[in-house]
Amino acid sequence: MKKTKIFISVLILVLTLNLVTGCNSVKKESTKDKGDGERIQIITTLFPQYDFAREIVKDKGEVSLLLPPGVEAHSYEPTPQDIGNIKKADVFIYTGEYMEPWAEKVIKNVGEDNVAIVDLSEGIKLIDEDDHEHNELEADHEGREDEHEEDNNNGHDSHHHGGKDPHIWLDPVYAQKMVDDIVETVVKVDKDNEDFYRANGESYKKKLAELDRKFTETFEKTEHKTIIYGGHFAFGYFAKRYGLDYISPYNGFTPNAEPTPQRITELIQNMKSSGMNVIYYEELIDPKIAKIISEQTGAKMMLLHGAHNVSKEELELGISYIKIMEDNLEKLKQGLVYNE
Ligand SMILES: [Zn+2]
Repeated sequence: MKKTKIFISVLILVLTLNLVTGCNSVKKESTKDKGDGERIQIITTLFPQYDFAREIVKDKGEVSLLLPPGVEAHSYEPTPQDIGNIKKADVFIYTGEYMEPWAEKVIKNVGEDNVAIVDLSEGIKLIDEDDHEHNELEADHEGREDEHEEDNNNGHDSHHHGGKDPHIWLDPVYAQKMVDDIVETVVKVDKDNEDFYRANGESYKKKLAELDRKFTETFEKTEHKTIIYGGHFAFGYFAKRYGLDYISPYNGFTPNAEPTPQRITELIQNMKSSGMNVIYYEELIDPKIAKIISEQTGAKMMLLHGAHNVSKEELELGISYIKIMEDNLEKLKQGLVYNE
């Protein structure tokens, strides 16, 4: 049977790749220049809030990104030095307990009296794992239960069993709310520049609203309404916002647990039956799953950037959240076949 043949070749590819690729996350020490004492000091966890905060405070503040360039965000944990830097900052901005499970401990350690703390997921109804599983392929549930048992054994199961989707920033509407939350905190800490921060926040939100409009208009005119993703389940809020289906072979919301060959085979079948010819892959991680799917289907590989973090090269080229999302828009126009 054809399906069995594909399954076996996928299995072999997965096994080979697992042998070749090891742990590839590089940790570097983050540095923070305590220069001008007048300027407001902000530390952020992920790239989107780093970029939003920069847009709001401009030259009146110093914004630092906790994640070193190129580091995979879900497996990141702060160093003692990072925690020391957070203690010295005026504002600490994080995504929420599901993206940064370590934050609670750090906040206790740092003390909310000394540092203004922003949890950007506050007030947003987060998608939980059960909802996300409904969006997936009609996968065989037996296989999935096996995997959950494995997850229990690796001692790092905070993202599973009642885990919620932390990827709010990929929805440009939630991004506007994130900007509001940052503005409200910054104006409390630095009242003298309140008008400046509010005006910057408003003009940046206009750009995000424009981005939202472009996505809405685009997906009204695409032939396909499904994103097939070789990376982890990051675009759930994005897909929901624009009425798209979103398929990822990963269980849970992190790239920490590898997808099974069964799941990859299902994706391949889905690609073939839908007639789609682009497989998307995620940033900063070896796109081995997308490669397998591309080899099996002839589909073209394209980066769909989840914006958790950026590479050193991207940072040097002055990448922004808006640039990442506009690039994603172009890739989606191609993969989902946009007809003007
Ligand atoms: Zn993620």
